[in-house]
Amino acid sequence: MQTIPFSEFGLSAPVMQAIDDIGYEEATPIQTAAIPLLMSGRDVIGQSQTGTGKTAAFAIPAIERLLADCEKGVQVLILCPTRELAIQACEEIRKLTRHIDWIHTAAVYGGQDIERQIRLLRSGVQIVVGTPGRIMDHMRRHTLRLGDVKIAILDEADEMLSMGFRDDIDTIFTDIPQERQTVLFSATMSSEIMEITKLYQTNPEIIRVVRKELTVSEIEQYYYNIPHSHKIEALSRLMDVYHPEPAMIFCNTKKQVDELVSAMQQRGYVAEGLHGDMKQQARDHVMNTFRGGKVDFLIATDVAARGIDISGIGAVFNYDIPQDVEYYVHRIGRTGRAGKSGLAFTFVTGSREMAELRCIMKYTRSEITKGTIPTSEQVMECRRLRFAKKVCASVENEDLSEYMRMVEQLADEGISAIEIAAALLKAEMTSDGRTSMPSEADDFAFAGHEHRFGRNAGSERRDSRDGRRNRRSGDRDKNMVKIYIGLGSSAGIKPGHIVGAVANETGLPGRSIGRIEISDRYSTFDVPQEAAELVINTLNKTRIMGRRVSARLFTEQF
Ligand code: AMP
Repeated sequence: MQTIPFSEFGLSAPVMQAIDDIGYEEATPIQTAAIPLLMSGRDVIGQSQTGTGKTAAFAIPAIERLLADCEKGVQVLILCPTRELAIQACEEIRKLTRHIDWIHTAAVYGGQDIERQIRLLRSGVQIVVGTPGRIMDHMRRHTLRLGDVKIAILDEADEMLSMGFRDDIDTIFTDIPQERQTVLFSATMSSEIMEITKLYQTNPEIIRVVRKELTVSEIEQYYYNIPHSHKIEALSRLMDVYHPEPAMIFCNTKKQVDELVSAMQQRGYVAEGLHGDMKQQARDHVMNTFRGGKVDFLIATDVAARGIDISGIGAVFNYDIPQDVEYYVHRIGRTGRAGKSGLAFTFVTGSREMAELRCIMKYTRSEITKGTIPTSEQVMECRRLRFAKKVCASVENEDLSEYMRMVEQLADEGISAIEIAAALLKAEMTSDGRTSMPSEADDFAFAGHEHRFGRNAGSERRDSRDGRRNRRSGDRDKNMVKIYIGLGSSAGIKPGHIVGAVANETGLPGRSIGRIEISDRYSTFDVPQEAAELVINTLNKTRIMGRRVSARLFTEQF
């Protein structure tokens, strides 16, 4: 797998700055192959799955072209099969153009108010990313002119064909000038795809990210589909229960490494980070302390960890799902203590990353089992057992006579042996800095997300949108508490916003939210008592419709 740093592509300063802000350390294989070709103006067929960094692979050269030409009008058109892909591509492009104030990107897709899109298109955009149906709609209304397009990109072309967009693609291309660069990305290369490339591309170069035969058979692999906001808690619990020190944790960006290192250190774990922004001396220091056993957890990017040969790793955590299946194999290949099979844990968030995980399973021909995050009770039980073991070993092997005298003295002062032991236990169990006990509210969220990503998710969402929520009364309501938020109908709040925010941010299934009442200035809704703390804390860290929420328990004086 040959990859190169972004600095070798000769990119402009604002694009380099944006890449640095995002924290990408090195180009992925598909970017390494595609960026130079696209920057030279060639038509390209890229065979690559989602999750490999293909959006940036076509977006970076397109942005560079815009910078070189400095022209008005829509110059880049990106066709995507689904609204989710269109939104994601648009977000990625906006991140890459954040230091270029005159380049604007619009996402146009079905299901969103068309007037809003028309206003956005009228305000002047250079890059349009959208689904074929809605793009044709705008063409018919003359709200989207394609006469200035210089680069046309078909993203996930095989998906577009299987969704029946073939005729739409033909219609759209009749409006795009012949003189253009055409890029096509597809996971598969069917004869239908080749037909499209013959029609719309000129002498295209084919790029395939070659996959090696990969074996990970000796490693026990688990995955956890959890919301991003719960990853740190999940990681801590797995560490507490499995005790895999020394372990490696992989993130996709330098920024994520830095954030995770400080979050884990705050929780009392002995963790250090390793990434490409660090000076060689600092890197060597981290590696020496890790090798010497003074650091339990090494949190690293793929690039920084490349070539590092460390044996005896208890477990590898994929805090972020890797960009490429080869990265996955390299990462988890480091686990496995002498004679024992290794352990690998992968966090995924949502259906898109699940699709990437399935891709990894397919190419590695391995089974990655769905894991369950340990409950707070299990975590406490593990800590208790570990403590009991330590006490027994000490009683058996050490001379404690001096200490026993001290206990007797305390007992003479009227403190019972149980009280002395409890105080010492508390000090011992928090002496490693792990003051935070796992909270039961989080247990609820971990259990809740399984429903959320399960079969019922769609129907829940439909219910909430209609506002026709099926409320049960009786016993269930007895365990419900009312939450207040400082946003009401005057702020445009609807039941769907509340259900959406709670379900998305906390992972609670939408159907566990009870009665919702919306007043002019505030709203209330019922949630199960055990989830109230989680809901309040999480909502106070997020926004609904761009506004602060001010959540708290509802009391009658409001
Ligand atoms: P895509 O294949 O475009 O859907 O990208 C999948 C994910 O990879 C996105 O979250 C991107 O932000 C991320 N990504 C793209 N390029 C890189 C890179 N060079 N290094 C790390 N992450 C990347």
